[in-house]
Amino acid sequence: MSVIYDRVALIGLGLIAGSMAHAMRAGGLAGEITGYARSSATRDTAREIGLCDRVCDSAAETVAGADLVVLAVPVGAMGAVMAEIAPHLAPGATITDVGSVKQSVIDAVAPHLPAGVHFIPGHPLAGTEHSGPRAGFASLFANRWWLLTPLPDTDPAALARLDALITAMGAKTDRMEAPHHDLVLAVTSHAPHLIAYTMVGVADHLRRVSGEEVIQYSAAGFRDFTRIAASDPTMWRDVFLHNKEATLDILGRFTEELFVLQRAIRMGDGPQLHDYFTRTRAIRRGII
Ligand code: NAD
Repeated sequence: MSVIYDRVALIGLGLIAGSMAHAMRAGGLAGEITGYARSSATRDTAREIGLCDRVCDSAAETVAGADLVVLAVPVGAMGAVMAEIAPHLAPGATITDVGSVKQSVIDAVAPHLPAGVHFIPGHPLAGTEHSGPRAGFASLFANRWWLLTPLPDTDPAALARLDALITAMGAKTDRMEAPHHDLVLAVTSHAPHLIAYTMVGVADHLRRVSGEEVIQYSAAGFRDFTRIAASDPTMWRDVFLHNKEATLDILGRFTEELFVLQRAIRMGDGPQLHDYFTRTRAIRRGII
């Protein structure tokens, strides 16, 4: 494959940025990759494992001369990072982000955008419960969706070029309005993560079952369902604080459904439970 961007700057060197670095290198998609993370320990690790061509000690130095800048920090840090790098961006550069929430990132980033710089918000629907500079791998995005939420005035050529990079990293792209993205993700990702965190909390608080028993006898239900509760606390704190409305909407609906099932169990209403599970099984089996 051929180079799509001459200089790509990665701000934040965790799972997503690291996976992008690996994927871009594997495909020869970037001339040079520079990187920056706020913590010096992360920068040292990134240097040690050769994650980027150059790991810089400031965000300003990282983005200087870059034709693509990727904001790969927790959602709550996007605005401050953008304010810091704005004066140092090259004219005509494209900025994208990989945040799990889109509208709040747009609200935080857009006010700092210099004229002539293209901002194309994005979200790869790919991840693991691991974080940090060592967590990334080249195939993370293979066959996964990468949603783009372009703004009405987004430059079509800049959008097509970013789309080409994402596709070359193995992902499939789709476009969505940011508020709709945030609602879809509240159902498919954000609420499930919160519920998984809660289930681990319930097990932790249960005095009559020991922590050892939970670990030792972790049946498929608990083990599979709570894997995502090992995900990075900072990232998830920010997701909930910045996708408040949609997440609360879904959690409200979830609670209502839970009460219905709770009542059916209490009343011994087998047919209702059976009907519910039959319907949801058919939906779940439709998801590969
Ligand atoms: P991570 O915890 O692995 O990495 C985050 C990186 O950002 C770290 O290198 C950290 O040092 C750096 N950082 C934090 N605050 C910073 C700041 N103010 N300035 C500079 N660097 C800073 O996280 P990740 O999983 O790579 O997530 C990054 C972004 O991608 C988040 O916005 C997250 O919502 C999004 N995302 C994550 C997943 C996932 O499953 N992990 C999936 C899709 C999108």
